[in-house]
Amino acid sequence: MVRYFSPLLSAGVVMLIGCPVASYGRQEAVSTQGQATQSQKVGLDEITEGRVTATISFLASDELAGRATGSDEFNIAARYVASRFRGAGLDGKLADGDYFHVTMKPMVKTPSTPVRLADAESKPIAQFGLLAAGSEILNYTGMVKPVDLASELPGSGLDGVVGGMLTTNLKGSRMISQVARMTNTLQEAGAKALLLGVSDDSELIQTSREYQEKPRSESARGKFAIPVILVPESALSSASIQLEVPAAIVSESPMRNVIGLLEGTDPELSKEAVLFSAHLDHLGAKPIAGDGIFNGADDDASGVTAVVMLADAFAKMPRPKRSLLFMTFWGEESGLLGSKQFVETPAWPLDQIRANVNIEMIGRPESGARNKIWMTGWQESDLGVVMNKASLPFGVEIFEHPKFSAMLYRQSDNWSFAQKGVIAHSFSAGSLHSDYHQVDDEWDRLEIPHMTRVIQGLFIGSLPIAYGEATPNKQNKN
Ligand SMILES: [Zn+2]
Repeated sequence: MVRYFSPLLSAGVVMLIGCPVASYGRQEAVSTQGQATQSQKVGLDEITEGRVTATISFLASDELAGRATGSDEFNIAARYVASRFRGAGLDGKLADGDYFHVTMKPMVKTPSTPVRLADAESKPIAQFGLLAAGSEILNYTGMVKPVDLASELPGSGLDGVVGGMLTTNLKGSRMISQVARMTNTLQEAGAKALLLGVSDDSELIQTSREYQEKPRSESARGKFAIPVILVPESALSSASIQLEVPAAIVSESPMRNVIGLLEGTDPELSKEAVLFSAHLDHLGAKPIAGDGIFNGADDDASGVTAVVMLADAFAKMPRPKRSLLFMTFWGEESGLLGSKQFVETPAWPLDQIRANVNIEMIGRPESGARNKIWMTGWQESDLGVVMNKASLPFGVEIFEHPKFSAMLYRQSDNWSFAQKGVIAHSFSAGSLHSDYHQVDDEWDRLEIPHMTRVIQGLFIGSLPIAYGEATPNKQNKN
C-alpha cells in the first residue's frame, strides 16, 4: 500500500480524478493510466516535450559533430551536461566541484608536415593520403612487397614497405580499426609501412587527407603500429618507392565523465545511491561532401537527454532518502571505456550503488511498443519488476524483450558496473533501426512524445527506490 508521504503508486486504490488537490505529505490517491499524483507532478512537470526537444536538438546538432570521444565537440557536450547539472542544483563535489570525472589519455594526431611518396625515378606519386603515421619517422627507399590482405597475413619474412588492396566491406571506424589490427600483425612480421590500395575513384584518399590533424583517441580507432598510406590501385604497381613519413604527434588529453549528485536526506539510506547514466560519445564525423556527421540522436543523445531531464525532475521533488547520481560517459562506442574507468576509480563506493539505470536509445519505438521500455539482463535482478510496479499504473510498461533483453545486456555501460557486482541494467525504448550507427540518426527522426513519456515512466518507476520504499535485489538464479 501507499505509505505516508509517498510518491508511489500502487494498483487498485482510488483514482485522483475529482479529488481536491492532494498536498504533499498526505496519503495520496493513486493515478490510473497516465495520470500522476500531485506530488509526482512536481517532478513530472519538468519533463516536457519542449524541454526534451530543446536538449536533444542541441546534443545531436551538426555543430557537435557526432561527439567523438576526446574531440572539442565532445568536450562542449560534456560542458553542456555539467552546466545543466549545475543549473538543476546538483552537487559537483564528487568531481572536484566541477562535475568532471577526468582521465588523461593519449590522443594521436597525424602530422600535416610533408609526407613524400615517389617512385624509383623520384617522380612524385600525386594521389595518396596518410591514414595514420607511426610512432617514429620513416625514411625508406626500396621495393614494395605485395601482400594479400584478404587472406591470412604472413607471420614473418616481411621487411620494408608492403602493399596490398583494401578488401574489407567494413566502413568508417570499423574499417579503420580493422586496418589498425592488420598493422600490428604486419609489424610483427617485419613490415615498416603499408601502402593500402583503393579503387582509383575512391573517396577514401580525400577523406584521409581531411582527417589529418584531427586529434583522435587511439583506442577509438585502433592503434596503428606502422604508417598506412592510401594509394590508388594503379600506384601499387610501382615496384620501388621512396617514402618519408613524419612521426605521429601524441598528446595527453582529458577524457570526461560528467557526474552530479543529489544527496539523500536519510542518515543511513543517503549513503546508498541510485545511478542514472547514459553515454555522451558517439562516432564523430567523416569529412565528406554532404552529410558525414554521425549525430547519434537516438544513440545516445536520447539517453543523455533522459539523464538531464531526470536530474531536473528529481531536483524539484522533496529530497529523496537515497542519494541520486547522474552521470554521462565518454568512450562507450570504443568499448565502454569511460564507465570502465569509473568503476576502477569510483567517486562513490560501488557496493553502495543500489541500482544503475543506464539509458540507451529511447527515441524510436519498435512497432507495438510505443510508451514501453525494455530492460536488458531481465533475469539478473528484479529491478525491472520493481520499477514496472510503479510505472505500469502510470501507463508506461517496463518489460523483458524476448530478444534484446538478453542480447544487449553486455553491450552498454551498465555492464561495467554489473561486472563489479552492481545491479545494473540498460533501459531502452527503441529498436535497432536502419539508422543505427548511420549518419541519418538525426533528432528530427525521433518520436518526441514517446521519448518524453518514456522518461516520465523512468522517473515514476524510480521513485520507490529513490525514496527508500523499495530495494531491488539480485535474482537468485538456479
Ligand atoms: Zn549506445
